[in-house]
Amino acid sequence: MRLSTIKLSGFKSFVDPTTLNLPSNLTGVVGPNGCGKSNIIDAVRWVMGESSASRLRGESLTDVIFAGSTARKPVNQAMVELIFDNSDHSITGQYGAFDEISVKRTVSLDGNSNYYLNGSKCRRRDITDLFLGTGLGPRSYSIIEQGMISNIILAKPEELRVYLEEAAGISKYKERRRETETR
Ligand code: ATP
Ligand code: MG
Repeated sequence: MRLSTIKLSGFKSFVDPTTLNLPSNLTGVVGPNGCGKSNIIDAVRWVMGESSASRLRGESLTDVIFAGSTARKPVNQAMVELIFDNSDHSITGQYGAFDEISVKRTVSLDGNSNYYLNGSKCRRRDITDLFLGTGLGPRSYSIIEQGMISNIILAKPEELRVYLEEAAGISKYKERRRETETR
C-alpha cells in the first residue's frame, strides 16, 4: 500500500484545489519557511481522523479551513483526499479488493465534518478501522515528526508496547476485543 496522491482544497494555506502526485516511494518536499510543508503532513493526519486541534497546530477544528490572507478572502470549507495505491492488497477487509482506495474528509465553518471512503459517506471509525494494523493512522509510527524520536527513546515500557503492537499487526485484534468486552 502506498500513498500516491494528495488532493487539498481550502485546507490551511492550500486555498485553491491542489493535487500533489507522489510518483515514487521517496518524495522530498522543499521550500522556504512558512510555505506549507508541514501543512501537507497535517492534511494527511487530518484525513485519517486526527481529532485533536492542537496536534494539527490549531485551537479549534475549524482552524484547518483557509482563514484568508491579505490577497484572498476566507473560504467556508476544507477538503483533503488521499488516494492509496492498494495494488498489493495490503489493505484487507471490505476494501481489500480495490486497487485504489480514496479516503476523503471535509469540514465546514459550522463544524460539520464528513468522511468518505471511495466516494461513499462513512464514519470516522470506518477510516480508522481501515488503517488499524497497517502502521498508518493519525498518530501511528509511519509519521515521525520533530520530537517523536526522543519520545520513543524516553517512552515508558507500556507506551512503547503500543508501537510494537501496531507494528506486529495485533492492535486491531486488541481493539476488537476491547469493543466486544465493553458491549
Ligand atoms: P517551516 O519550514 O518553518 O517548518 P512550513 O513549510 O512547514 O515551514 P507550514 O507550517 O506548513 O510551513 O505553513 C505555515 C503557513 O500556513 C503560515 O503562513 C500560515 O499562515 C499558513 N496557514 C496555516 N493555517 C492557515 C489557515 N487556516 N488559513 C490560512 N493560512 C494558514
Ligand atoms: Mg514545518
